[in-house]
Amino acid sequence: VALKHSWGGIRDQEEQEGRENEVEMGDRSLLSLPFSLLLLWLQEVKLWCNCPFWPDDGMCRLRDCSVCECPESEFPESFKKPYHHGLPSDDLNCQEGKPEATVDRTLDSKAFRGWPETDNPWTYDDETDNSEMTYVNLQLNPERYTGYTGPSARRIWDAVYSENCPKYPAEELCQEEKILYKLISGLHSSISIHIASDYLLDEATNLWGHNLDLLYDRVLRYQNRVQNLYFTFLFVLRAVTKATDYLEQAEYNTGNPTEDLKTESLMRQLLYNPKLQAACPLPFDEARLWKGQRGPELKQKIQAQFKNISALMDCVGCEKCRLWGKLQVLGLGTALKILFSVNGEEHLHRTLEVQRNEVIALMNLLNRLSESLKFVHEMGAAAEKQSEGK
Ligand code: FAD
Repeated sequence: VALKHSWGGIRDQEEQEGRENEVEMGDRSLLSLPFSLLLLWLQEVKLWCNCPFWPDDGMCRLRDCSVCECPESEFPESFKKPYHHGLPSDDLNCQEGKPEATVDRTLDSKAFRGWPETDNPWTYDDETDNSEMTYVNLQLNPERYTGYTGPSARRIWDAVYSENCPKYPAEELCQEEKILYKLISGLHSSISIHIASDYLLDEATNLWGHNLDLLYDRVLRYQNRVQNLYFTFLFVLRAVTKATDYLEQAEYNTGNPTEDLKTESLMRQLLYNPKLQAACPLPFDEARLWKGQRGPELKQKIQAQFKNISALMDCVGCEKCRLWGKLQVLGLGTALKILFSVNGEEHLHRTLEVQRNEVIALMNLLNRLSESLKFVHEMGAAAEKQSEGK
């Protein structure tokens, strides 16, 4: 994986201009979609891969930065062995298609054919390779302040923004490239908001709470960082709604029937939420993208850039940050796969194939983003007021 490009100038310019948001802000009541699904909290993750770009520079300051893994005795039985169920893969049921469109808005309604083992073309990790995978209970490892700051953290963000985005003058940046920037910036805002929401206020007494100065200084004072958070939320929401059939039919099997039923029921509540369908029928229109002659080439380029971003997550020098960084980037990669896997070039493989781990990452990312928006709505005014008093 090569890191070639630089996009720092564009980021700064966008920050200064405070570009207008292109998506509607949506209904506030939709902002929080909290759910607690046992299956969706147990994430399989490869945490200790070598950074492909530079030597390890682990910078954990707090003990809280390390991740506690699940002991093998706690792995659900069904996760241990390959789990194939459903229709044979040659029974392809092609969805209603629009071959002339580069990106189709529809997916096969007989969507789920057992958990597949297919690599995600948007991410660096080989999702079909289970070696060195370990299970982590996300509820025991919440995303919050870890003390990971300084040159190590800065190098990752700089590389994410500078190395992976093309060096075009801002005005030449096409819509698709802006989307990659907005997705990353929205995710960055969300991470900063979770740090602000659960911050170690006093190390001596181990007092945790909200850090409203941080919320304001890192996110709220930059209008476009909030807008990008909305954008990322709506983008991921669209991927989830597009994959409704698949997610509803998927087998949530942890070996605990009560939890499995609860998971299925909560999943349906989320997917068929009438408020969501009424207020946000099409949160983001993926069919507008990758059109024109440059479409396929551009898509490949952006896919390669996103892969680089995903590889950079192995360079994050703090375990817990790496866990959440990898999980959320996989979630974004899954959203990209859902939104753009059904297209002209790939029309022979139009049935969506999303792995269990990708579903977990996607749903957790949606949860993180919606919790971030909720926190901004609840605490934003107080944070702004506090900043005015300084
Ligand atoms: P940073 O957040 O490091 O930002 C660097 C620069 O990026 C800023 O100066 C600004 O120019 C630009 N920038 C900032 N926000 C945006 C935005 N939304 N859009 C566009 N540009 C922006 N720390 C924790 O305590 N807990 C965590 O769980 C955690 N997870 C992390 C996950 C990843 C993948 C990474 C790379 C870092 C993580 N960190 C975490 C570290 C954290 O994100 C910050 O890097 C750290 O707190 C230092 O913050 P900073 O003020 O230097 O600015």
